[in-house]
Amino acid sequence: MDAARQKQLIAGVANAIVSHAGELTALDQAIGDGDHGVNMKRGFEAVLADADRLAAKPLPEMLKGLGMHLVMKVGGASGPLFGTLFIALAKEIPADPTLGEVAHALGQAIEAVKARGKSAVGQKTMLDVLDPVLAELAGADRLDLAARLKARAAAAARATVPMKAIRGRASYLGDRSIGHMDPGGRSVWLIVDAVCDTLASPAQERS
Ligand code: ADP
Ligand code: MG
Repeated sequence: MDAARQKQLIAGVANAIVSHAGELTALDQAIGDGDHGVNMKRGFEAVLADADRLAAKPLPEMLKGLGMHLVMKVGGASGPLFGTLFIALAKEIPADPTLGEVAHALGQAIEAVKARGKSAVGQKTMLDVLDPVLAELAGADRLDLAARLKARAAAAARATVPMKAIRGRASYLGDRSIGHMDPGGRSVWLIVDAVCDTLASPAQERS
């Protein structure tokens, strides 16, 4: 990927989060403290402000830089966790990865999030969207991969609605966490959608 393409990727992901901050906050108001949208928006605005510098770096350094912004700016539980996701991805991914190498790196990054969050799949967190997306990515079926990744992320985020939260602030609500989508899971869905849409679109002229 050249710098222009990487800039498109950064802008696509960051704008998706920023433009859905209200929705993310509403989700977190239902089962948390209502700061998830504000938190994520603050982090991805910092990423956007630094997009040119980040996009000029090789892919691993770009991902690391993005993760550092999230760690420093997002705050809450999700800042260190999304930061860890991108920084661990950066450690594992080659500069010009194959699909298999992306899947391997994402697997390692998910393990890093689990270690950092002392969490597992099935606890109504971002992991419940990340893990099915990885399964789809690592699967043998490469036909219409972007569409299938998006569908899998959407289904996984929706599947967090009937789950009971076992980790994070939402777990304080016990059974009352049932019936709402996990905000962090929705963020992962937004990120997956944006990555797939950007990579499926034709490269644009650098503006
Ligand atoms: P906080 O919970 O500190 O207010 P946010 O509202 O920004 O932080 O983020 C909440 C999201 O973080 C949750 O929806 C969930 O997806 C994710 N999360 C919280 N704790 C964990 C954890 N231990 N492991 C994985 N994800 C977590
Ligand atoms: Mg919150």
